[in-house]
Amino acid sequence: SKTAYVRTKPHLNIGTMGHVDHGKTTLTAAITKVLAERGTGTFVPFDRIDRAPEEAARGITINIAHVEYETDTRHYAHVDMPGHADYVKNMVTGAAQLDGAILVVSALDGIMPQTAEHVLLARQVGVDHIVVALNKADGTDDAELVDLVELEVRDLLTAQGYPGDSVPVVRVSGLRALAGDPRWTASVEALLDAVDTYVPMPERYLDAPFLLPVENVLTITGRGTVVTGAIERGVVRVGDRVDVLGADVRTVVTGLETFGKPMQEAQAGDNVALLLRGVARDAVRRGHVVAAPGSVVPARRFSARVYVLAGREGGRTTPVATGYRPQFYIRTADVVGDVDLGPVGVARPGETVEMTVELGREVPLEPGLGFAVREGGRTVGAGTVIAVG
Ligand code: GDP
Ligand code: MG
Repeated sequence: SKTAYVRTKPHLNIGTMGHVDHGKTTLTAAITKVLAERGTGTFVPFDRIDRAPEEAARGITINIAHVEYETDTRHYAHVDMPGHADYVKNMVTGAAQLDGAILVVSALDGIMPQTAEHVLLARQVGVDHIVVALNKADGTDDAELVDLVELEVRDLLTAQGYPGDSVPVVRVSGLRALAGDPRWTASVEALLDAVDTYVPMPERYLDAPFLLPVENVLTITGRGTVVTGAIERGVVRVGDRVDVLGADVRTVVTGLETFGKPMQEAQAGDNVALLLRGVARDAVRRGHVVAAPGSVVPARRFSARVYVLAGREGGRTTPVATGYRPQFYIRTADVVGDVDLGPVGVARPGETVEMTVELGREVPLEPGLGFAVREGGRTVGAGTVIAVG
């Protein structure tokens, strides 16, 4: 039988973010390699992260890869996204629940549009701690060039409300560390030390009623339907009754696992799989929410404060008006909504505005909840719920 999960160190969720091809996946693989050599992790090669074959084998497209590892002081779940759109869906909507992020910037290329967008959206959804990996530092001997890139990244962070002057910036080479080059292995260790010391243990809402946004649904032959995701708040135990909002299902949790290890109890911040009693595979979908019975009320209507991305941030170049119908990414849900901009009636790119939204279907909502606004496959806004109803 499988070994049970034993909680010996505090658990945090982190992830790599940054422009495509700046080396996020390579660095993720390198981190697992360095820690495997230290004996506190298992090496996960590049191909396994980039293609997530376990999920592919089950015929499910899940564009998110989780790896787990430990440093001397902490247990981490680390997410790496293959593409920009996946980043937006999973991280920006809060599905990945990042306690901190590693911003990967190629020292050869400097900040690029997705670098800026990820920082902006991380700020919007409350990722308060960013550590910078200036990657591909093996590719140049021009220290002044790398200094300039570092300055540019610090300025970008400051402009978005991060303490750009004091954020740790570590020059690394994921590729050379992966190859076992001691100089660059040391650079990845330095990066991990920076994450350990700079990203604080977040406050976990353990006393709040249990809530888990469903990221994925799987069938385990002979056992039933399993939902996976990161627990947003509260604690869940095997045998607990839960509601599946969106599916209108009441059920009981009959099994719990984290990274393939069974557990009796899981808590806010944990990435888990929940086995649900008597629930049909097609009754539950990504975007649904599993919660303690009666603890949340789904709604269609809410008011929000929304930042409309400027064109140079990858957003729209033209204003939006009342009657606009974009997609709202709320937790893991993707729902169309009608926008009412009130007496002002329009919102220009680069502005922060208040709006009322009428969603196409009910989802659990509450003040303070962050979301992304998307249109034609790109992010055009980032917002926060002010009031429901
Ligand atoms: P991602 O899109 O951000 O996940 O980037 P990848 O990890 O897929 O890397 C993109 C390309 O950059 C690949 O060809 C890598 O081999 C290369 N690369 C990644 N890290 C480094 C590095 O540290 N140094 C150099 N020279 N190349 C790297
Ligand atoms: Mg990648």
